[in-house]
Amino acid sequence: MALLQITEPGQALDPHARKRAAGIDLGTTNSLIASVRAGVVQTLPDDRGVHLLPSVVRYLEDGSYVVGEEALAAAKSDPANTLLSIKRLMGRGIKDVSTLGDQVPYEFIDTDGGMPLINVVSGPVSPVKASASILQSLVHRAEKILAGKIDGVVITVPAYFDDAQRQATKDAATIAELNVLRLLSEPTAAAVAYGLDSGEEGVIAVYDLGGGTFDISLLRLNRGVFEVLSTGGDSALGGDDFDRAIAEWIIEAAGYESQISQAQFRGLMLEARGFKESLSDNASVAVQIDLEDLQFEGELSKNEFNQLIAPLVDKSIKACRRAVRDAGVDVGDVNNVVLVGGSTRVPAVVDAVAEYFDSRPLDSIDPDRVVAVGAAIQANVLVGNKPDEEMLLLDVLPLSLGLETMGGLTEKIIDRNTTIPVSKAQEFTTYKDGQTAMLIHVVQGERELVDDCRSLARFELRGIPPMVAGAAKIGVLFQVDADGLLSVSATELSTGVEAKVEVKPSYGLNEDEIKSMLQASFEHAREDIDARSLTEARVDAVRVIEAVRGALKSDAENLLSPDEIDEIGKSIHQLESVLDGADSVAIQDLTRALSLATDEFAARRMDANVKLALAGHEINEFDKGQG
Ligand code: ADP
Ligand code: MG
Repeated sequence: MALLQITEPGQALDPHARKRAAGIDLGTTNSLIASVRAGVVQTLPDDRGVHLLPSVVRYLEDGSYVVGEEALAAAKSDPANTLLSIKRLMGRGIKDVSTLGDQVPYEFIDTDGGMPLINVVSGPVSPVKASASILQSLVHRAEKILAGKIDGVVITVPAYFDDAQRQATKDAATIAELNVLRLLSEPTAAAVAYGLDSGEEGVIAVYDLGGGTFDISLLRLNRGVFEVLSTGGDSALGGDDFDRAIAEWIIEAAGYESQISQAQFRGLMLEARGFKESLSDNASVAVQIDLEDLQFEGELSKNEFNQLIAPLVDKSIKACRRAVRDAGVDVGDVNNVVLVGGSTRVPAVVDAVAEYFDSRPLDSIDPDRVVAVGAAIQANVLVGNKPDEEMLLLDVLPLSLGLETMGGLTEKIIDRNTTIPVSKAQEFTTYKDGQTAMLIHVVQGERELVDDCRSLARFELRGIPPMVAGAAKIGVLFQVDADGLLSVSATELSTGVEAKVEVKPSYGLNEDEIKSMLQASFEHAREDIDARSLTEARVDAVRVIEAVRGALKSDAENLLSPDEIDEIGKSIHQLESVLDGADSVAIQDLTRALSLATDEFAARRMDANVKLALAGHEINEFDKGQG
């Protein structure tokens, strides 16, 4: 009799029952798919044996489309219908997109708060849909090679991608009918590709210099778990800039004086790219240019090239320095450096990285493929082919999250670069006597004033029992889940009254905005602190004045002499006279003076109130309801 075999869920019986899993590097310039076959990770080629798929989709009049090399070939002749660098548009609103300026030549259609559509010859198309087409093209090639349906994929995203950008990437996978096992950050994937997850614990730097973007990430491996400690970089720095430097060198060396046409310059950039790539393996390259009236013949040596790109390489090292500082580590703490991106094939780049980190970077895996390779390894584990291995990979918040407090100040609850998932609670209190509602305003950013941060959500907590100012205890809880989604709840702790909001911005901030918000917080740090202490002083002063006025109104007659009333009145007046000025120290001093002047009054009120409260009550009444 045949027995039925039962295995643990997800555990494979034999090699034939293995599940098909793939890792996808959905890149700005190029995309790749990789898979683990017979224990070996490989990127998968198309029919012609090409592994890199240009991340380009071209739409045709009849509603069909082409993806990859064929689409890229039409980029020059049909720019309006050929979508390049779609990744820069994912999860973006129309405002974000318009800041990309002439980087993208498309006609956008506003969709009322959502992601804008792009008008192509066959009608409007969303960036998500276009990304789905790229994913589909990759998965088709994989299913052909692996001879069957893919059970699950891991898709990589930049570590700084926010909630909306991640959501857009997931949506693209849903449209492509893929089972997403996980979104994985690109630097983490690169570290996994080198097997650093099973190596010694410590800090890893991932230096990713591509065609148009530079990303630096610091990770910490701790008990088998990767945490992203910090991210940084420059969304407008890459191999294209090296090409431009060479193009400009040629124009100067050729003594070309007239205005160069756009078409000529594009042609020159393409030529320059070839010279640059050749210089990665040669000491010099013969430069020959024949573009209309621009003619040149000469030689570019590696040394000259290195000088041309030195300021650009330097810029990337400066960003590394910032990221190391943000991570709260010393450069000497970095145990491993991983190189990612085609531009890390330039020897001068490798040298600069090696010098700054004082260690030989890991570069044995093709820097174009390393991210897809790591994603495939992770996909293979997550799909259940290696049940004894488990990895938990963490991400990081790009900006601080906080609340608006009195006077338009921000109170940070979770600091930027905190790893997610995370939850943090903080207690707040009421500002006025008898206050029964509280407005919770959730903001994102580094600045001290709410107006300089980005507003994420507002909601009200109602039903707070009336108490004196400062007596109510409101617990506010911030929770960010593994996919970067924030929810905030507020609870009045004595009654348990609760209000809650899920924060799901329709589209997020782009990297430049994040950067400029950070930049602004550094630049304005001094004035922000001044503004903060002034506002705090005012809020404090007003609260004290209101409390004293309220007390005078109810108890002055019974508890104070006319002289005493006069004295307190003067003190209030003095404080009010400086309240609108900018001298926070004066406001603080006079607030303190007013408090002192009313100490005795407060003590008498306390006595009187206790007597009043006890009068006519049996002591045991106060025990009721406490059991
Ligand atoms: P992205 O991350 O933007 O998708 P890639 O990582 O594919 O881009 O890197 C593309 C860049 O790498 C281009 O600027 C290309 O010229 C450059 N590159 C590729 N191979 C070499 C090489 N051998 N030497 C120097 N640069 C190279
Ligand atoms: Mg890349």
